[in-house]
Amino acid sequence: MILMTPTEPCPCGKKLSYHECCGPLHQGQAQAETAEQLMRSRYAAFCQGEVDYLLTTLHPSKRSESDQFSLQNTVENCQWLKLELLEIAAGSADDSAGFVEFVAYFKEKEIRALRERSRFLKENGVWFYVDGESKKPSPPGRNEPCWCGSGKKSKKCHGVII
Ligand SMILES: [Zn+2]
Ligand SMILES: [Zn+2]
Repeated sequence: MILMTPTEPCPCGKKLSYHECCGPLHQGQAQAETAEQLMRSRYAAFCQGEVDYLLTTLHPSKRSESDQFSLQNTVENCQWLKLELLEIAAGSADDSAGFVEFVAYFKEKEIRALRERSRFLKENGVWFYVDGESKKPSPPGRNEPCWCGSGKKSKKCHGVII
């Protein structure tokens, strides 16, 4: 886990510094207004080890006693590399539900990709992550440009994702 300083770009992929983007959400100084913002801030929380934020933004009906342990374990063992949003359906400030489909690249032992269509609900003005449908990631082939944006072929850069 590599912690950001407030002026570094936010790990969620928005071209804003961490203290203008997901930082205030993690610190409880602001609230996500859209499902996309909650999605991005939860990804950034995985990067930053903000386990409390991950717990409070999980829908109360989905919480269990093992969450703290399993989230702590995830933030300690995974290095999150990049978030890509594929599709956003509803989830705007005027909606009460929304879906965000994403691919997140991370390194555990090898570099891997996680693709999920996540469901978000807004209750009493607060957005929550409810659950998600896992999908098969479609990583770039050996001769295609690497997902990291280096411009190199996948096989000469981060390699083929398993
Ligand atoms: Zn952010
Ligand atoms: Zn690469």
